[in-house]
Amino acid sequence: MNIHEYQGKAVLKEFGAPVSAGFPALTVTEAVEAAKKLPGPLYVVKSQIHAGGRGKGKFKELPADAKGGVRLAKSIEEVESHAKEMLGNTLVTAQTGPAGKQVNRLYIEDGSDIEKEFYLSALVDRETSRIAFVVSTEGGMDIEAVAHDTPEKIKTFSVDPATGIMPHHGRTVAQTLGLTGDQAKQAGTVLAQIYAAFVGKDMAMLEINPLIVTKQGQIKCLDAKVSFDSNSLYRHPDVVALRDETEEDAKEIEASKYDLAYIALDGTIGCMVNGAGLAMATLDIIQLYGESPANFLDVGGGATEEKVTAAFKIITADPKVKGILVNIFGGIMKCDVIARGVIAAVKAVGLQVPLVVRLEGTNVEEGKEIIRTSGLNVIPADDLDDAAQKIVAAVKKA
Ligand code: GDP
Ligand code: MG
Repeated sequence: MNIHEYQGKAVLKEFGAPVSAGFPALTVTEAVEAAKKLPGPLYVVKSQIHAGGRGKGKFKELPADAKGGVRLAKSIEEVESHAKEMLGNTLVTAQTGPAGKQVNRLYIEDGSDIEKEFYLSALVDRETSRIAFVVSTEGGMDIEAVAHDTPEKIKTFSVDPATGIMPHHGRTVAQTLGLTGDQAKQAGTVLAQIYAAFVGKDMAMLEINPLIVTKQGQIKCLDAKVSFDSNSLYRHPDVVALRDETEEDAKEIEASKYDLAYIALDGTIGCMVNGAGLAMATLDIIQLYGESPANFLDVGGGATEEKVTAAFKIITADPKVKGILVNIFGGIMKCDVIARGVIAAVKAVGLQVPLVVRLEGTNVEEGKEIIRTSGLNVIPADDLDDAAQKIVAAVKKA
């Protein structure tokens, strides 16, 4: 789960990490009020969207030479004019895709005098099964490009969970960034604060780009991109409260209410499958026969009729879906439960597109019987191959 920059900074602040003062704003009036509470004379007006590269981004509705999604302002009037230009408009960055994202929220921040910009991020490293840090002197830039062109400028190290952050980690960071004296000490402190925030909140990734040294010699987190491990949300209600549903796919939000593992994709064939492995095999085989899946969906082992109905409704509500493939291998999941869920959902929302159902395993005969006697126009299939070919053929014919 992702959050906005201003929320990420509030989390960092909880752990003592240095961030600038600032206030979020949903309207131009709020932006002006926020600026009035800050000392000035330099302010930063920052678009809050769940994507990076905002500074270099372009607004669709503004002329090509207009400023990007992060702007400096030297007066309250300037904050106001930037807010007017940015709010409600669509920001396209390297990370939003060509459609861009509408800016509905700004963050008005106390402007910093930057001496140097660095890069610092933390993530879960699968190879070492530890939290790893990535540090570079090349801050404020596209870190992927730095990794590609000048990999020697990137330092990575991981932290032993048994010891946590040790003084030598701080020294590594200071050395990599060329910091000495008080600034080296500050860097060590910030590193420990960031590690505590990462572990304490079950983050999956935390990127500070840039981490800066101000002209006054202070180290500060000037940007914060935070994502949390979704599997840990049950123990962090405070994190769940930060969710901004307007930034997420509506279908995925609906699915999460029913605890369904659903990911929206770009294709035309809606899929309802049990088991992540079978679900992925189903996506592959649809592709093999020349069509693309509209979603990944694992209804899970213990799905109830209600859950199956909800899943089916989410699939049919997607206007891209031109056909549906239900592929169930009943183990813990029973085929008759799936069949009843599908029938209930079709009765509730109707069926405008071809539907292929492949059932196998526990209670398969009851399941098939329920579908056969339902009077619905369902195309039965015997195995995965057969099912994929049938739905692709049906979609091509329609
Ligand atoms: P991003 O473009 O989405 O990564 O947004 P950032 O928060 O990283 O801001 C982009 C750039 O704006 C930074 O790399 C800085 O160069 C600049 N910037 C952001 N805040 C300030 C500030 O307080 N003072 C100054 N001088 N520049 C800033
Ligand atoms: Mg940044």
